Amino acid sequence: MNTYEVIRASQLTKKYGGVCALDHVDITVKQGEIYGLVGNNGAGKTTFLKMITGQSFPTSGELSILSKTEESEKNKARKRTGSIIETPSFYPKLTVEKNMEYYRIQRGIPGKDTVDNILTVVGLLDAKKKKFDTLSLGMKQRLGLALALMGEPEFLILDEPINGLDPTGIIEIRNLLLKLNREKNITILISSHILTELSNIATTYGFLDKGILIEQITAEKLSEKCNTYLDISVTDTKKYCALLETKLSCDNYKVMPENHIRIFDINKKMEDYSSLAVLNGIGLLSMEEKRIDLENYYMNLIESVNE
Ligand code: ATP
Repeated sequence: MNTYEVIRASQLTKKYGGVCALDHVDITVKQGEIYGLVGNNGAGKTTFLKMITGQSFPTSGELSILSKTEESEKNKARKRTGSIIETPSFYPKLTVEKNMEYYRIQRGIPGKDTVDNILTVVGLLDAKKKKFDTLSLGMKQRLGLALALMGEPEFLILDEPINGLDPTGIIEIRNLLLKLNREKNITILISSHILTELSNIATTYGFLDKGILIEQITAEKLSEKCNTYLDISVTDTKKYCALLETKLSCDNYKVMPENHIRIFDINKKMEDYSSLAVLNGIGLLSMEEKRIDLENYYMNLIESVNE
């Protein structure tokens, strides 16, 4: 199947007075992807999402949505997208069904079955007679998703959709997003702080830091880069590192806080690393083989650009 570009940002820049919220950012989201936008507070994630939905406009650069670059065409393309950027407002005393019906009519979406069908997709059909203010946070989030799905979008934009959810709520949203992506072929752009969760679903990542895109990488490539490493803690890191280089010809290591050293490219036996300390009068405090996860990868990336 041919995949097309759902989003292409080229040198996209957004300035708020003296603050550069996005600085010449290039991001491409391809059809079928679950794109995880990762970044600390203030990195520019929401700014980027708002430019896609038309709630904000670039200072310079280009943004194409579903291959459309011209503003009126982009507005048509936006109708083929669904989004949750700020918490959608629902009437607390109205039922789930009435709230959805309100939005269906307001948006001019035909079909009396529409609401029931969407509530079935998000698993809220049984709760349709419940008043909004009696729903759990997870159910409220799913209702938000239901609203974003109205109009059968081919592209979903979600800003921190699992913030504040308990583990059950997180799993529900995760399964729902995977279902929408796999069964309905909906492309999803999702921003999240919760990297472990993002790593369960994202197929591509964009790492933003202070408005700059520091890396865009597929989950597959990232997994190749997330090698195992040896985490070793010794009493004298300086001496141990010197020995690593001279005795074991290893220079692919990193000194971490609290006397830890990360050794990448482990190509010797474990006892070679331990005896290097012990036989040279260095105390060996701990030694463990670990794998870089998304969180570690992100922290290392941020550290390396801010060095
Ligand atoms: P968070 O995770 O905290 O939501 P974010 O990555 O979504 O952060 P943005 O909300 O896009 O970051 O903000 C990026 C930068 O732009 C921040 O420095 C923020 O203070 C600034 N900013 C965002 N919106 C505005 C605005 N309307 N006016 C002025 N500055 C803004």
